[in-house]
Amino acid sequence: MGYVADSLRSMGITLRTFLQKPVTVEFPEVRRPRAERYRASFALLHEADGDEACIGCLQCERICPSQVIAIKAAGKKESPVTGKKRGYADDFTLDLSACIFCELCVQVCPTDAIVMTREQETPTFSREELVLTMPMLYANEKSKHRAWADGTKLMDMQALPKPPPAAALAAPAAPTTPVAPPSGGGTP
Ligand code: SF4
Ligand code: SF4
Repeated sequence: MGYVADSLRSMGITLRTFLQKPVTVEFPEVRRPRAERYRASFALLHEADGDEACIGCLQCERICPSQVIAIKAAGKKESPVTGKKRGYADDFTLDLSACIFCELCVQVCPTDAIVMTREQETPTFSREELVLTMPMLYANEKSKHRAWADGTKLMDMQALPKPPPAAALAAPAAPTTPVAPPSGGGTP
């Protein structure tokens, strides 16, 4: 008898849920807004003058614990924008399938060239398609919502708190109120 009651109860729950509005959405047609610090993918950025921000220093590649970043540094070349010599990356790939989203690559970047984005890449059927190429990373600069952090902001968070100003240290301590002897004590 208990089995019948349980079956009827579960059927009732199924029917009730069936008639409710779905709480899920179709992805990637509908993309829900993500929290400011949500980490989903990556973008490479340009400077304000249009030059590539990445200087090919390899720091992100070296710090990556999953070793998913591969960069072909170009060495120093004349900038087409400023005419000055500076470093570039000839190629840059990031294998999203093995990334642990630790954000260390973003933190160490000295030029804030690499940032994380809050929007997932479109799902794929093969791991190879999750390797973000340099053109894909630069394309994400325009089309994806950026996460909160860049290298400068993350390094600022690591900085030690500033010591109090010297004047505050040199200020004399406030006088302490003398403690009155207890009345009616044992003093003759
Ligand atoms: S987030 Fe971490 S694991 Fe992913 S690429 Fe950057 S350093 Fe590597
Ligand atoms: S993304 Fe940043 S850390 Fe990585 S190679 Fe380019 S400049 Fe260096």
